[in-house]
Amino acid sequence: MISKKKTIEMIDVIGQMYPDAECELVHENPFELTIAVLMSAQCTDAAVNRVTRTLFQKYKTPEDYLSVPVEELMEDIRSIGLFRNKAKNIQALCQILIDQYNGEIPREHSELVKLPGVGRKTANVVVSVAYGVPALAVDTHVERVSKRLGICKWKDNVLQVEETLCNKIPRERWNKTHHQLIFFGRYHCLARNPKCNECPLLIDCREGRKRKKVIIDAG
Ligand code: SF4
Repeated sequence: MISKKKTIEMIDVIGQMYPDAECELVHENPFELTIAVLMSAQCTDAAVNRVTRTLFQKYKTPEDYLSVPVEELMEDIRSIGLFRNKAKNIQALCQILIDQYNGEIPREHSELVKLPGVGRKTANVVVSVAYGVPALAVDTHVERVSKRLGICKWKDNVLQVEETLCNKIPRERWNKTHHQLIFFGRYHCLARNPKCNECPLLIDCREGRKRKKVIIDAG
């Protein structure tokens, strides 16, 4: 694994590439954000945004989602992967919000992860994007980029990747870095065809060197 100092140098470069990186899920409040993140599991943000454009017009409150049969909600989100489970989770989540949280999305990570369909990553996104709490959500892009660059070990699980990133990156940079790593993975270091030829990190990237067979002068 690369050092903390080298990690920050790399994060700085990525930050210069995507200074305005931010959450691409369209939302207007913590509730909409939570619904959008829940739906984004194994699905692109663009696909979620296409659905929420009309979904958020039809359903504005937890009560709205519970006012229809689950089959109707399934139909409303059927272009999203795993739509049946997601519709069930949305209604279960809305019922708990009404019963236990006065209809509001809780601010505490420990409470968020108790909600149906809300895992650690979703909770991290919600607390950081909606409430500005430092958190570093690890999605598929963040994990891939961190491993390719050698910030984390190849065999690390998602939680280990998050812990390593949090150890190596200053806390005040977690939220912005999360979005910048996502943009870097989504638009540059793509899963299938990373743009190594034009990558400013190629010389330091173990995956890029392997792909390009760059000979590094160890001296
Ligand atoms: Fe990704 Fe290639 Fe850049 Fe490495 S060199 S970060 S694999 S694009």
